[in-house]
Amino acid sequence: MKYWRLGDLLVSSGVITEEQLELALRMQKEEMQGKRLGTVLIESGIITENQLIETLQMQLGVEFIDLNNTAIPPEMAQVLPKNIAKKHMVIPIKVVRNELYLAMVDPLNFITIEEVQSATRKKVIPVIATTAAMERAVLNLYSNEGAARAIEEMKKDNVGEVSFEPQKDSVAHIEDDANSAPTIRLVNSIIERAVTEQASDVHIEPREDEVMVRMRIDGMMRNVFTVPKELQSSVISRLKIMGNMDISQHRIPLDGRCNVRIRQQDIDLRISTLPTIYGEKTVLRLLKKAEGLLTMEGIGLRGENMELFQKLIHNNTEGVILIVGPTGSGKSSTMYTMVKDLNNEEVNLITLEDPVEYNINGVNQVQINEKAGLTFANALRAVLRQDPDIIGVGEIRDGETAEIALRAAMTGHLVLSTIHTNDAKSSIDRLLGIGVEPYLIAGSVKGIISQRLVRRICPRCKTAYTPDETETKFLKLPSNKNYTFYRGQGCSDCFYTGYRGRMAVFEILVFNSDIKRAISTNDPVALEKAIADSGFTPILENCRELVLDGVTSAKEVSRAVSRTDY
Ligand SMILES: [Zn+2]
Repeated sequence: MKYWRLGDLLVSSGVITEEQLELALRMQKEEMQGKRLGTVLIESGIITENQLIETLQMQLGVEFIDLNNTAIPPEMAQVLPKNIAKKHMVIPIKVVRNELYLAMVDPLNFITIEEVQSATRKKVIPVIATTAAMERAVLNLYSNEGAARAIEEMKKDNVGEVSFEPQKDSVAHIEDDANSAPTIRLVNSIIERAVTEQASDVHIEPREDEVMVRMRIDGMMRNVFTVPKELQSSVISRLKIMGNMDISQHRIPLDGRCNVRIRQQDIDLRISTLPTIYGEKTVLRLLKKAEGLLTMEGIGLRGENMELFQKLIHNNTEGVILIVGPTGSGKSSTMYTMVKDLNNEEVNLITLEDPVEYNINGVNQVQINEKAGLTFANALRAVLRQDPDIIGVGEIRDGETAEIALRAAMTGHLVLSTIHTNDAKSSIDRLLGIGVEPYLIAGSVKGIISQRLVRRICPRCKTAYTPDETETKFLKLPSNKNYTFYRGQGCSDCFYTGYRGRMAVFEILVFNSDIKRAISTNDPVALEKAIADSGFTPILENCRELVLDGVTSAKEVSRAVSRTDY
């Protein structure tokens, strides 16, 4: 590659004029001192970053790499020191023999290329990337350094190929590998990373020629790093040993659990495997202890909803309180918050859960096991013989469970449960649909809490803007006023997503006599009117306040609230 000067290249390819170049060079000398020409041209609005990248691609034949969608092997962190990567905004992508593929924001910067070449003793092949993606990639790669070191060590120890369907006699060998210090360190660093990122799940996915480690963070899956294919079996065996699972079994799904203590946090790990064509996909679900977590404020209750919530759970000693919403709407966190709040030494509180996600001291938590015949309905019958005051039923899925739960609620028990539906109205329809008598619903249900999860705007990169009409209309705001909304621009704190953390948004329907009458007479029109007359505040109205307060964005509300998959 011939070294060009960026300015000359842009002028000769007609992207900018001589005058624009002169202006930019003058700005670079005066008010934008120390900045690179490319940055000056972009920040002054003369060209866009995409135009710059396109020109470099066309004129120099430099390839473009979308770093947002590329998983960089963690051992690359060992190839180039962090300080050089950060200083020059470059990141090593791969090494092929003596050639280092280096993603660069400015591939024309030969000083950088020289420095990397002398630091790595490899020939640099530049590829181009955008600034934002680069910042994020550098941050990601160098926070995986622990994993990278362990992988390097494991590679040194590893001799030859390890098939992912070992013969019986090689099991002992695999077990040795799985207990070697580097394997343990790699697995620990994966779990530690998940805890720092507050991930709920870690997915270790064998692919054809690598193993992808992905994490679910704030409800979204994210590629975190890749592990070389030859280390696949020792990593998976290590996890199986931790979960007390059968390491010689590779053909059927397995599950196990263990407790780990990382960064002063006790974590309950649920480990499950699923045989795929490239090996056993392994998922770790991280469960934290509920103490100190899950408060009413923490899950997102505020104002009027907080009062309604408190009244519902404390003013009723019998009846059913339902929590409804689609998958991933935070129903179980709300349920745990209720259980935690109602738990004291004067009550017998039993929960039936599938799966148990948190441990709560003093609560009798039962893990449902359908395969072994412990279904919600069977377990509920057994619980009723155990003198309960409060029963948490993880989910009402069938008519039998619904019937027992609702009858129990009419005979002196407080029953908390969830139903997988969109809102209050559709959960009443669902109960009727699975064969529950209308009088039973009217007689037992005290209230229905519907909810969705929204991501909170990242406080560090939050910026105000004036919304357009589509957004104000969606939130049903009067059009004769000017509003200020907020959104996150993306920064290293939030992995350039603009969001950090999540909260639930609610609508709470408290049953009054009109609502009960409409249900027991099976009159949908009267029911709709009764709900409207009850002073019920729909979820969208509750979200409006959060958008105006800058807690979440209008875009996020529209994504979360329009979700109707169940
Ligand atoms: Zn941010």
